[in-house]
Amino acid sequence: MADLFKLKIITPDKTFYEGDVEMVELTTTEGQIGIYARHIPLTAIVAPGVLTIHEGSEKREAALLSGFIQVLPEQVTIMAEIAEWPEEIDENRAMEAKVRAERRLKSGSAEVDMARAELALKRALVRLEVRE
Ligand code: ATP
Repeated sequence: MADLFKLKIITPDKTFYEGDVEMVELTTTEGQIGIYARHIPLTAIVAPGVLTIHEGSEKREAALLSGFIQVLPEQVTIMAEIAEWPEEIDENRAMEAKVRAERRLKSGSAEVDMARAELALKRALVRLEVRE
């Protein structure tokens, strides 16, 4: 078994996850990363994506929508603005958010903040993927 490191994920209102893990995968604004024990120190901005926690033979998934990550050789901390386990996701709400964002993006209207709509679409797609 690979070496373990401490992973802590906090959201504004609780400790979302805390445990000794083998690997964690997530998306940052620089792209997707996979972190094992003794990774070089790093800080990054979280982008909407599927968070995968590898606890040895077990694998857990969650939606990680925004926040920051700090990587130290023995400990990784994710300060998540929004993180959700599959059972916390309202699928209908995510579907509606997806349709709304797609409509805004297609409209081409000057009044639509395209970057905001794109981010909302990404969040909805991640929620739907995790919920599946
Ligand atoms: P919506 O347009 O439906 O509000 P959103 O992507 O704009 O979606 P966020 O800004 O990402 O929403 O989240 C705002 C709050 O609502 C957060 O607390 C988040 O956990 C919650 N939330 C948003 N969408 C869902 C969902 N589909 N299921 C459960 N909670 C959700």
